[in-house]
This record gives sequence, C-alpha cells and structure tokens, in this order.
Amino acid sequence: METVELHNFINMATIDSIDLKNKKVLVRVDFNVPLNENFEITDPTRINAAIPTIKKILNEKSSVILMSHLGRPKEGFEDKFSLKHLLPYLKEKLNVNVLFADDCIGSSANQLAAELKPKEVLLLENLRFYKEETKGDVEFAKKLANHGDFYVNDAFGTAHRAHASTTIIAQFFPKDKAFGYIMGDELKNINKILQEPKRPLTTILGGAKISGKIEIINNLLDKVENLIIGGGMMFTFIKAMGGNIGSSLIEEDLLDTAHEAIEKAKEQNVNLYLPLDVKIANEFSNEAQTDLCSSYNIPDGWMGLDIGPKTIQKFEEVILKSSSILWNGPMGVFEMSNYEEGTKAIAEAIANATKKGAFSLIGGGDSVAAINKYNLKNKVSYVSTGGGAMLEYIEGKELPGVKAIEA
Ligand code: AMP
Repeated sequence: METVELHNFINMATIDSIDLKNKKVLVRVDFNVPLNENFEITDPTRINAAIPTIKKILNEKSSVILMSHLGRPKEGFEDKFSLKHLLPYLKEKLNVNVLFADDCIGSSANQLAAELKPKEVLLLENLRFYKEETKGDVEFAKKLANHGDFYVNDAFGTAHRAHASTTIIAQFFPKDKAFGYIMGDELKNINKILQEPKRPLTTILGGAKISGKIEIINNLLDKVENLIIGGGMMFTFIKAMGGNIGSSLIEEDLLDTAHEAIEKAKEQNVNLYLPLDVKIANEFSNEAQTDLCSSYNIPDGWMGLDIGPKTIQKFEEVILKSSSILWNGPMGVFEMSNYEEGTKAIAEAIANATKKGAFSLIGGGDSVAAINKYNLKNKVSYVSTGGGAMLEYIEGKELPGVKAIEA
C-alpha cells in the first residue's frame, strides 16, 4: 500500500501554512454546478464549498484568479457551458468586485489578470472550451500559469485527472503552490479511514455494479474488520455463492472476481456481510408487485430491488458497533419510494453510530444524494464531494492533482 503511505500529510502545504500576502493567486476550483434551462444554478454546493478558500486569500490582501470547468463542452465556446452564468451568484456570495474574462487565455485575460487589484476576483471562462485542458497540454498550462504568481488547487473532484489546470500547471510554480481548504479537508478525512482508523472499521458498499469498485473491494479487504455489501452488486456475490437471483442485476463476467473476494475475505478474517433477505419486484417499477424473500432464493422472473428487514437489522447492528465507517453506494433503488427503506435505514444507522462517537465518511454521488435526501448531512462526520477522485484514492491510487502539489 505504498501509495497510501505516501500521503501522510505531515508537511502538507495548505493555504494556512504559507505566506499568501499581496499575491495574484491562481485557484483551480470545481464550479461544475448544475444549471437549469434559464442558466440558473440549481445546486450551488460546489461553489459554496470553495468560498472559504477564496475569502482566506482575499483577506491576505491578495487577488484571486478562478479557473474551472463546467459540463462537457465538445469543442470551443457553447453558451450553456459558459461560466459567465455563475457571475451574479459569485458576486453575491463574495461581496467583492468579480471580473470575468470571456476566454481563459489570450490578450484580454492577460490584461485583466495583469490589472487585477488586491482583494479583487477574476473568473476565467470555462477551461474545457480548449481541448488542451483535458489533454494536459503543457503550453496551455503555461499560458494559464502566466496569469498568477501562486497556484492553489482546491478542486478535489478532478484531482484524479492529469489535466492542464489540475496537474500540469503545478510545474510552473515549483515552490509557490498549495492545497485549498476543500482539498486539505478531503484528504485529511479520507486518510482517517485509510490510515490508522479507529477500530472496528466497517465499509458499506452498494450501488448498481461491482465493475469499477472491485479495486476498492480488494484494497479494503486489507484494511477493514467488516465489509457490508448491498445494492445491485450483492447479486453477483450471491450467485457466486450458488444462490438463485431470479432476474436481479448480475455481472456474469465478474462471478469469479466476486468469488475471489469472498475467499480473500475469509483469509483476511474480514467479516463479509451479504443480505439475508431482499425486497423483490416483478418488474423494475415503483408500481410493480412486491414481496420479501431470502436473497439466496429469488423466484424466476422477480428481481431484488432493496435489502429486506432482517438484513436491515443485521447491518444496523454491525454499523452501531463500528468506530469508523465508510459508505459508498445505495442499498437499493432508493430513487423509487418502494425500494428506499434499506438505504434510508442504513443512512440513519450511520448517523446514530456517529452520534455515539464513530467517525463516518460518506462518498460517491448516490450515497451523498441519499444523505441529503434524508437530511442527515450534519449528522455524519464528513461527506466527500469528489466521487471518482475519492474512489480512486481509496483504491490506493496516487491522485495526479495531489502529487503535483506535493512534488
Ligand atoms: P452506482 O452508480 O454504481 O453507485 O449505482 C447507483 C445506482 O444503483 C442507483 O441509481 C440505484 O438505483 C441502483 N441500484 C441500487 N440497488 C439496485 C438493485 N438492487 N437493482 C438495480 N439497481 C440498483
């Protein structure tokens, strides 16, 4: 687990530990927020999360140049992906003068950056209007780097990508670079699970599929006391153990992989908890007929769409005895009211365990959506904002955006 050990952050450069006075600070943020058809922000969470970093820099009498991507533009300018739509909200939140450069590089951006006064903010247009951004182009990164004299990365959501603005740019600031508060908090909190966690450590994995999560399972089997598996991915495990899963979700090509994970869990003395019973439906619909049955004996033509009450009870018991908890992925099709009970109960059990003193980390898009849906955000220890980045970090991979600041 060499890569994980690398990140002990004893010498982590954060914006609190360095002198940021009177500088032009180039900050990579994650302002990839959802917009409605009138270009209004429907969920400003990501912008709000970056405000403390921006304010801290402004308070040091420095100016801030913000760089971000928004959506997935194909090539060149597309109005619906323009960061100009974020300006009114940003001005209101920061209560300072926020300028806008309608191209992230070029003479106009250069001039605006050069003339930027202390305590002013300049927002650059969407980086991904240039394909050089995702390609990690060095020349493009250099042009961006020329706007400022210090680089801060606060975009944890893209830390697993070696893009121009997240990674490549850091080489132009060999000493003048640091993590923003979001990056620092994310890494510190994930490390609470990966490095010397309070024991017992329980991981709860759910969601639709094992594919994409198998590396996490393998890495976690070296670390956890308890591994709880629910959601659609449970059925590949149950079938690997000889169960009948009816027409539930299955990844046939991963049956061997699931089998190996079960064997590895035994070897490592990890308690692997698979659902005992499931709520089944005769079609994938909230209006379907439903029933309860053993997870190992689902009738033909029926599919498991949530964990059942015996399972909920068992999982709750394990969660409440845990001192550290990591949760990724819903226990069932929680978007439909008939199959949300398991996910809701598990979210509540995690909140209860947290109240009793456990450290709980929630990560991955759908578990975060579930925590928000059940209003439990303030009742768990930490909710990670970077789905993909968090999963790769837990897999034991080195994140290029993190390495670039540490180097
Ligand atoms: P993922 O993106 O892999 O975390 O999967 C999240 C999705 O898994 C959610 O949209 C859930 O509706 C879905 N899901 C959870 N449990 C099941 C299940 N038993 N059958 C089908 N889909 C499921």
